[in-house]
Amino acid sequence: MAKTRTASLSCELAVVGGGPAGLATALLAARSGLKTVLAAPKARPDHRTFALMAGAVRMLQRLGAWEPLLPQSAPLRRLRIIDDTGRLLRAPTVEFDAGEIGLDAFAWNFPAAPLSEVLGELVSKEANVTWLGGVMSSCVAGPEGCDLVLDDGTAIHANVVAAADGRGSLCREAAGIPVETWRYPQTAIVTTIAHDRDHMDVSTEFHRRTGPFTLVPLPGKLSSVVMAETPEGAQRLCELDDAGLAREIERRSHRLLGAVSIAGPRGAFPLTGLLPKVFSKNRVALIGEAGHVVPPIGAQGLNLGLRDAAMLVECLSQSGDTDAALALYDRRRRGDVVSRATAIDVLNRSLLSDLVPAQAVRALGLYAIARIEPLRRRIMSEGVAPGGGYTPAIMQPDPEPDEDGLSLAV
Ligand SMILES: Cc1cc2nc3c(=O)[nH]c(=O)nc-3n(C[C@H](O)[C@H](O)[C@H](O)COP(=O)(O)OP(=O)(O)OC[C@H]3O[C@@H](n4cnc5c(N)ncnc54)[C@H](O)[C@@H]3O)c2cc1C
Repeated sequence: MAKTRTASLSCELAVVGGGPAGLATALLAARSGLKTVLAAPKARPDHRTFALMAGAVRMLQRLGAWEPLLPQSAPLRRLRIIDDTGRLLRAPTVEFDAGEIGLDAFAWNFPAAPLSEVLGELVSKEANVTWLGGVMSSCVAGPEGCDLVLDDGTAIHANVVAAADGRGSLCREAAGIPVETWRYPQTAIVTTIAHDRDHMDVSTEFHRRTGPFTLVPLPGKLSSVVMAETPEGAQRLCELDDAGLAREIERRSHRLLGAVSIAGPRGAFPLTGLLPKVFSKNRVALIGEAGHVVPPIGAQGLNLGLRDAAMLVECLSQSGDTDAALALYDRRRRGDVVSRATAIDVLNRSLLSDLVPAQAVRALGLYAIARIEPLRRRIMSEGVAPGGGYTPAIMQPDPEPDEDGLSLAV
């Protein structure tokens, strides 16, 4: 429950924005003993679903947020990529099995709304967090800290600001962090379907000329659907009634899941990209979509956002030197975020490209992944954890016990 204040406040960390990345940051900060203010009006209802990978799920488990989400979640035990471009150079179908890299599942898929509810409830129980329901209207950021003012007049002085205020972040602008933004000639249509065949915990991605068309398991005989289309194609899909859209999904999925009916609301998301020059400056650290926007391919966006949250709190709570902690945060987030945004961009553009060399590279890449086992395992491991970098402690697996049954943790 948001508390309303009008007095001036001072804190170690001010989190601006109450999307899932901001709520997770506030909860982690409070649990690690940082005096925290959360400036977050009630978030708008989100009808999407999120597939979160093992590290993010482990973090939610340790925060006590996973148990209520588990009954609404479906494991993604296998991932299948099918080339449905109909082009001359076609890639073989590639399947990844989580068991090959010792995991029970690559990810768990569940509705977005309960995640924010659960995180919000936990945050509101934390004595270390003052949750203000106002919108931040001004931010002055500098090398010694930040001064924020909310629309109800509340003033806040923060040693550090976690900018979790989304892709149009005012905090990012106040810190003077330039960004590169771009648009894809695509819009993603998302909905939920009911189907008469079991999905068998397999997520299937059809690579089409207009981008990926993905079926992601939900509990029972339900799946989330993400269809990347041209803006005109997306408009046509939006104009279909439920029966027409269901027929189109059956056709595009080659009836993989049998007969289909629409079981949830639809959403349309124009696909864009955003990367900042730095992830922290003038005591402002970028969290979630304030620091990266990637197309919904390979379920990376919020997984990155939760890694931002865990990394920032870990850096701040382990160092008495704020500037050194923020410099470390910038270095550690850069590799993970940039490598993933680049991989998604290359894959997406290779689908859209009519150039034969681009199609050949994509087809050959998938051929190599299908045939070369160590490469396949490497790609799978990279897909679920930060690119060759450091994983925040709260996302790391428990240490394996040694042969005497003793934990290897020190
Ligand atoms: C179709 C689709 C499917 C996706 N599927 C997945 C998936 O399966 N897995 C995955 O990991 N990611 C997925 N993503 C990405 C994921 O949705 C985003 O990464 C995530 O929602 C971003 O959360 P956030 O908290 O960073 O930003 P937001 O949810 O945008 O939150 C920002 C918040 O800041 C608030 N705010 C803004 N300005 C102010 C201000 N001045 N003062 C106070 N508050 C402010 C806003 O009101 C908002 O509540 C998907 C994205 C799309 C489009």
